[in-house]
Formats: sequence, C-alpha cells, structure tokens
Amino acid sequence: MKKMFGCPCDRCNDHNRRANVSISLISHDGAGKTLHHILFDVGGGVATSLFHCPWLKHENSRLDQIILTHWHPDHTLNFNRVLVSNFLRGERLKINPNPVVPVWARSGSAAWVQRNFEFESSQYMHLQPSGEANPIGSLIEPIHLPAIPDIKITPFSLSHFSADFSLDRQSKVPSCAGFVVEGPNKKAIFFWDSDTTNEAWVTNPQTDDQKATVSLLQDADYLIIDTLVWIGRNDKVYPHLSFPRVMNMAKSLRPKVTLPVHISGHPDLPGLGSWGWSDEDWQQNGSQAWSEQSAPGRFVVPSIGDELEL
Ligand SMILES: [Zn+2]
Ligand SMILES: [Zn+2]
Repeated sequence: MKKMFGCPCDRCNDHNRRANVSISLISHDGAGKTLHHILFDVGGGVATSLFHCPWLKHENSRLDQIILTHWHPDHTLNFNRVLVSNFLRGERLKINPNPVVPVWARSGSAAWVQRNFEFESSQYMHLQPSGEANPIGSLIEPIHLPAIPDIKITPFSLSHFSADFSLDRQSKVPSCAGFVVEGPNKKAIFFWDSDTTNEAWVTNPQTDDQKATVSLLQDADYLIIDTLVWIGRNDKVYPHLSFPRVMNMAKSLRPKVTLPVHISGHPDLPGLGSWGWSDEDWQQNGSQAWSEQSAPGRFVVPSIGDELEL
C-alpha cells in the first residue's frame, strides 16, 4: 500500500500554480484501486483538482473523510462543489461508498461550519465536532479511522486568533487544529493557519501538555507549515507565521523537509519582502537562508500535485 498527498495530473503538476492549504491523503493497493481518500480542508480550487485526479476517477471516486484545520472561508470555500459532486456520484452512479461524508472539526469550527454551510451540513456531511476545549499546544484525542488501521492522525490545539471565536465573537474558543499524520514508514506534521504566538510554545514548551506535543512534533519527515510572508511583522500578534519564525520553529522541531504553505496566500504587502514573489523566488531565497543559517533538513516549496509518501 502506498500513501500520497496530491495527485499527478497535469493541472496539479503545473508549477505556476501556488501551493495552497488542502491536502488529500490517498491510499491505494498498487494495482490501480484507490482504497481510501481523506481530504484535509476544502479550499478554493480543490474541487477542480479532485475532478482531475487520476486516483479518484470513475470507479475510484471516493471521499471517506474530511478533516478541517479550521472554518475560515479559504479552507472551506469548495464545500458545496466537493460535497454535492460526491453525493451525486454516490447516490446516482453508485460508484462512491460514502455519499454523506464525515467531517471532523474542533467544536468551535464545527459551529461556524454549521452556520456558514447550513444546507451542506444538513444534507451532505456528518459533522463530527471534536467535543473538547484543549488549551493551545496540547494534544487532542486521535481521530477515529477504523477503516484505515495503518494511519494514525493525532490533532493538536494551535492558536489562530482570527478564527478562535464563539459565533457571537464575544468569547475566545480555541477552534483550530494541526495534525500529526503517522503512516507505516513516515511522519508528517500539518501546521497551518497559525498565529505568531505558537512560536513560543513550539520553541520553548512550558507545560507538560506542551512538552508532550512538541516531542511528538519533533523529527518528522515533513513539516508542512503556514509561511505567509518573508519578513515578520512587528504587530504584537499576527494571524500567520513569517519565514524567520518558521525557520526558528524548524530548528526546534528538526524535520527532514520543511514545506511552506499559504505563501502569499492573502495579498502580501510591499515591505514584507515577498511582494509579488513566485514559488521559484520563495524556493531560491528560502533555501539560501536555510543553508546560511544551518537550519535542519531541506526547505522545499511544494507545488499542487506533489506527492509525499507515508
Ligand atoms: Zn488560511
Ligand atoms: Zn485562517
């Protein structure tokens, strides 16, 4: 069995397309049959990528589980297209075993999904709120995936303050998750949409909870991490990480490969260094800084369609 992220279609292999924040975890039997498909986040453009993915064509079409990092629109924008298409293939064409898809989200994010996607959540998904209020930097109960015994997905609580709110915005509710995805051979860390406060607990964990999380995050094969801008902003707390903070965190976590995502994912601004950069500019400047400062492992800008084996 081989596990991979993304797919090898032409669209996905177009290196002019920027890497975004949705990842497919696909397992197949090596003889062309897709066994499982777990989708992390449902950002804009994801539906089209999935429609073109050869691992998900025709009788291989399936979607077993959606897992959300958080409810923000850039991570949920394609819910309608993905869920309706999946439902129709399942109900009418009978080629999809899961017409109604389980969607795991932290309770705070699940409430927002229910409000923002009232129709889709009543028709096409089983929302699975995590039912916890774990403090930032702590591990959350692993996601139950009985059909996929050789994959373990452990969420952890991370801070992304512009999403960490109750529906009336009157109280703070930790609503965002990162994930430790452990396959038979490799470990990947999904650490995206992270505000700048996470740098402190990652590089200098204080509580026993934080220490346990950091030790699970350490020495991964892949660290896939929110790196919105090249130069850090001076604001007290900023909703996304910058390159210097990511490098600092990588020094503590020592991944073999650090893959920045969400790069220039919102309009970058003049003065933040990466204004107008292509993925190639990010790659060149990032790997130069990586070697100048002896950061661990490699810095690799991912493209849509890259496959990482677990
Ligand atoms: Zn985002
Ligand atoms: Zn966000």
